[in-house]
Amino acid sequence: MKVAAVIVAAGIGVRAGGVVPKQYRKVNGEAVLRKTVRAFAGHPDVSAVQVVVNPEHKGFYEQALSGLNVLAPVKGGMLRQDSVLAGLKALIPLKPDIVLIHDAARAFVSPKLIARVIKAVEAEKAGAVPALPVADTLKQEVNGAVVKTVDRSGLWLAQTPQGFPFGDILQAHQTVKSGNFTDDAGVAEAAGLKVVLIEGEKENVKLTTPEDFKARSADVRTGTGFDVHAFAPGDHVMLCGVKIPHDHTLKGHSDADAGLHALTDALLGAIGAGDIGDHFPPGDPKWKNAASEIFLKHAAKLVRDQGAAILNVDVTLICEQPRIGPHREAMRQAVARILGIEAARVSVKATTTEALGFTGRGEGLAAQAIATVGF
Ligand code: MG
Repeated sequence: MKVAAVIVAAGIGVRAGGVVPKQYRKVNGEAVLRKTVRAFAGHPDVSAVQVVVNPEHKGFYEQALSGLNVLAPVKGGMLRQDSVLAGLKALIPLKPDIVLIHDAARAFVSPKLIARVIKAVEAEKAGAVPALPVADTLKQEVNGAVVKTVDRSGLWLAQTPQGFPFGDILQAHQTVKSGNFTDDAGVAEAAGLKVVLIEGEKENVKLTTPEDFKARSADVRTGTGFDVHAFAPGDHVMLCGVKIPHDHTLKGHSDADAGLHALTDALLGAIGAGDIGDHFPPGDPKWKNAASEIFLKHAAKLVRDQGAAILNVDVTLICEQPRIGPHREAMRQAVARILGIEAARVSVKATTTEALGFTGRGEGLAAQAIATVGF
C-alpha cells in the first residue's frame, strides 16, 4: 500500500500577525511547516511528501525545509481546493494508493494519528477524517442575540490529515468545482464519496492566531548530563566532536568524548529516556572505539521522534589541559552539525578547578551539559 501526503501551505497566513507567514513562523525554534512536514516525511507508512506553496514564499520555504526528504514543491492556487488539486496532480506519476491531505498549520499531528487515518482508509475503502466531538454548547445568533441553542449531538469538529483512496479524491477534485470547500472531505461528500470519521486528537490544533503560537511554546523541558573520563597514554583527545592533539588520550570504551557523552545524557534526560548506558551498553563490543557522535545523533532523533525540537544546549568542559579555548568554535560547529541545529543554539565553555581535585591533578577530565527541548 503506497501512501503519499499533500501538505497545503499556500495560504497567505497573516492572521497570526508579524511579517512571516504563519506556516513559516517558529514554534519552539522550528518553522511550523518544517515540523508538519517532518511528521509525514519521517513516518514509516508515508513514502512521498508533496508540499503546495505560495511562490512568493520561496525564500521562507527553502530555509524552512532544507535537508528534508520531500518532492519539489508545487505552486498553489487562489482557493484551497485549487492548491490541493495541484498537489494531487503532482503525485499522479507516483501512483499512490492512498493520499493524506493535511493543513500546514497543524504542526502537532502525531505519528499515531497518521497511522490511524491510513488504516481507516485501507479498511473502509473510503475517505477518513479525524474529528473531535463538539464539547462546548452551540448557540445560533442573529444581530448579537441568541435565537437558538443548537443540539450538539452528532456534531464533530473536523481535523486533518484527511485520507482518501488516491484515484477517488483526485477525480472528486477534478469534477466538483462549485462551492467554497474548507476541507477535502467536503469535496469528497459533494462527489458522493463515502467518508468516515475516526477519533482525532486534541493536540492536533491549527495554529492560527498569535495566541496559538504563544500557548504552544509553553512546554519546555530540560535535562542535565555529567561525565568523567580518565587520562591514559596517547596523543590526542576527542572533545565535543573535535580531535585535539594532546600528550594523553582519554580512556573509555568508545572514543571517550566526555563532552558528547554529557550532552547525550542531557538530551535523554530532557525527554525522560534513560541514560547513555541504557541505549549504548558499555559492555557491547559494537561500541568499542565508536565515534560518540553516533550516541548524540541517536538522542537527538529520540527527541524529534517525540515531536520535540532542541532549543539549546550548553556544555562545560572541566580540565587543566588540554586548552579548550582555541577549539571552542570548532566544537560549537561540530555539535550544531551533529544535532542539526544552528550554532547560535550551542554553547561550549571550559573551566579549570584551580588545580584542585582529580581534574586539577590531571588524572582525568569532566564535562557537564544542559539541554532544553520544546514540545
Ligand atoms: Mg562517558
